[in-house]
Amino acid sequence: MKLEYTERQQAFRKEIRDWLAANVPRQPLPSFDTKQGFEAHRQWERKLFEGRWSAVTWPKDKGGRGCDLIEWLIFEEEYWAASAPLRVNQNGIFLLAPTLMEYGTEEQKARFLPKMADGSEIWAQGWSEPGAGSDMAAIKTKAIKDGDHYVINGQKTWSTRAVYADWLFGLFRTDPASERHKGLSFILLPLNLPGITIRPIKQLNGLPGFAEIFFDDVRVPVANRLGEEGAGWNVAMATAGFERGLMLRSPGRFQQTAKLLVDLYQQHRARADTDPAVRDAVLKSWMDAEAYTLATYATASRLLKGGRIGVEASTNKIFWSELDLLMHETAMSILGAHAELVSRAGETGAAQHDWLDGFLFAQAGPIYAGTNEIQRNIIAERMLGLPRA
Ligand SMILES: Cc1cc2nc3c(=O)[nH]c(=O)nc-3n(C[C@H](O)[C@H](O)[C@H](O)COP(=O)(O)OP(=O)(O)OC[C@H]3O[C@@H](n4cnc5c(N)ncnc54)[C@H](O)[C@@H]3O)c2cc1C
Repeated sequence: MKLEYTERQQAFRKEIRDWLAANVPRQPLPSFDTKQGFEAHRQWERKLFEGRWSAVTWPKDKGGRGCDLIEWLIFEEEYWAASAPLRVNQNGIFLLAPTLMEYGTEEQKARFLPKMADGSEIWAQGWSEPGAGSDMAAIKTKAIKDGDHYVINGQKTWSTRAVYADWLFGLFRTDPASERHKGLSFILLPLNLPGITIRPIKQLNGLPGFAEIFFDDVRVPVANRLGEEGAGWNVAMATAGFERGLMLRSPGRFQQTAKLLVDLYQQHRARADTDPAVRDAVLKSWMDAEAYTLATYATASRLLKGGRIGVEASTNKIFWSELDLLMHETAMSILGAHAELVSRAGETGAAQHDWLDGFLFAQAGPIYAGTNEIQRNIIAERMLGLPRA
């Protein structure tokens, strides 16, 4: 497969490249898992919005640029190559927004999309519960109708960025007699409502990247439900499809990490070449990042012709998460004990140059957005037609 870009696409690439060269902060922002870093990233989202770069695939009348998926891939390649800050608002812009555009009422779109686009409302996602991770249909947290409100009681866990985020989208059991996938509804709620307690959970690097959220008679207007009552599972599956599919991890991220890995290998060649397996792993990382890129361009071209993302969302998710692990393990092999010294982990540091922090985060790749074991089950059953275990 040979990639060729049209003149329009090349002009688009130049436009974003020039804008990023003029606007990306010279010093990396503090981690968004700190309060100060979260606000610095929110300001960055605002700046992106002002340049009309915060949500390039959204329609123009919603603050986007109406970019197609190929232009989105180009945008992402340039974004990562410029070492621009990580996106604190990715849950909103990449996951909730497409779901809202498909299932939301006009009022909901008008209420939520503008504040999402400019970073004034940052979203967390609330699926997981202590007894409902991989088995998401086991969700127990109840939202019981009382007039024009739902009254929510229960607990969510592992909610990324919920310590500092403004709003939560999640699945709740609106029919107390229901079981499994039925009787669930998709509800949007601000995280500062009375009755909500947020308890931070520390990550391996010591920062509170996640939170447990406790709901004690929390009242949320019925108008905050997205989609029909009891049909939340289908709405959530659309969001999960966006997450596992293209939008969560674009190839640009891995191409940039592969490039940095090659640079790292070249800088430390004398030590790295004592083990031929390291050189092989660097080569494999580079080739796999390219393979992921080509496969994503192929998927994007298919979607542009009217297809929908299918089971390949699961194959993508396994591929990029294992690639991320390989690249960071290889970097650790090259750096050895020096990894501790070159790391900017802790209170500061964007992920992509920080090999130790990246290594710690890569451990989570096979778990979040649906574990790789679950993705393999999906591939076995739906792609290969194997019998259910
Ligand atoms: C970095 C990170 C960010 C996250 N962010 C969020 C978030 O923002 N919002 C949110 O709601 N959740 C979030 N999560 C939670 C994540 O979705 C869950 O951790 C994940 O779905 C697994 O659920 P669990 O932890 O309950 O593990 P379990 O479901 O208990 O699984 C434990 C192990 O058993 C395996 N297993 C379970 N069932 C099967 C099966 N049927 N077949 C084969 N193997 C099986 C799993 O693959 C896993 O290896 C995040 C997790 C991480 C690591």
